[in-house]
Amino acid sequence: MTSLEVSVTELADGVTRITLPLPTGPRHVHCYVVDGTLFDTGIGLDEPAWAALGIERIAITHFHPDHVGGAEAAAAATGAPVYQGALDYAQCERVWGSPDWPDRIAAWFRTHGVPEPITAELIEQGHAFAPFIRFARGPELLYEQNHLGGWSVLELPGHADGHLGFLGSDGVLVGGDHLLARITPAVGLYPESRPDPLGDYLRSLERTIELAPRIVYPGHGEPIADAAARARELIDHHRERLAQVEHVLGAEARSGFEVSRAVFGAELSPAQRRFAVAETLSHLERLVFAGRVVRAGTGRSVTYTGP
Ligand SMILES: [Zn+2]
Repeated sequence: MTSLEVSVTELADGVTRITLPLPTGPRHVHCYVVDGTLFDTGIGLDEPAWAALGIERIAITHFHPDHVGGAEAAAAATGAPVYQGALDYAQCERVWGSPDWPDRIAAWFRTHGVPEPITAELIEQGHAFAPFIRFARGPELLYEQNHLGGWSVLELPGHADGHLGFLGSDGVLVGGDHLLARITPAVGLYPESRPDPLGDYLRSLERTIELAPRIVYPGHGEPIADAAARARELIDHHRERLAQVEHVLGAEARSGFEVSRAVFGAELSPAQRRFAVAETLSHLERLVFAGRVVRAGTGRSVTYTGP
């Protein structure tokens, strides 16, 4: 446990925000209860008084540990059914449901040039962390266009392949980590995932501009009143980063790891490097899809070359 505590805030009429401490990253994650639906469940290290919150159903925005890790406990405490995106749940099982995931992801990072000492530490951290992620087995599966209570289900891939948003008739979007006010949501390439996550994300941001929700309740940070403006900022950010990544590449083949050092610097912890390499690779693959970068290599070593 960290020194932070669970806090419950009435954000607006009928909107309750439950904020839980996180041991890393943004140090907190928000869950919301609206009209009897609990959106997201925290990381599972804390067990808020779920039973006191009038929860009739539990909806998961995406399978990252700080959103899904408490799902089993929340379901047990409330007796409420859990709803999760079909694609997202498949990935959730593939990743957290399988004991060799830390080894599989480390092997994949090695093919992208990440050296052995870093991958060894990632494996160790992965195995240490896995027992805390207690997602709910066999949830009800959700797809685009489904309705859950008064909410429309939207597939907003990018930050996670199967990321969902929940849009209410009053223009409220419960958005998970799709859109955050001050943090740039991570968009990384990972093994056994969709091939162009940044392309997915840019399309999901364009869709957000079209939808123009009245307010977004995010997984981290404060509510977002002008979602379209924030989506445009994030599109601009990724355009700049794409230009930066392309600029770093020349005629010489370089690994994702090497490019990540040029873009994000050489001094990062193993956990930070993991995100930096995944983020770099999502940009490199976007450039490959756009025909501006060439990928070479196969199973053992993958490199990228400029145009
Ligand atoms: Zn996330």
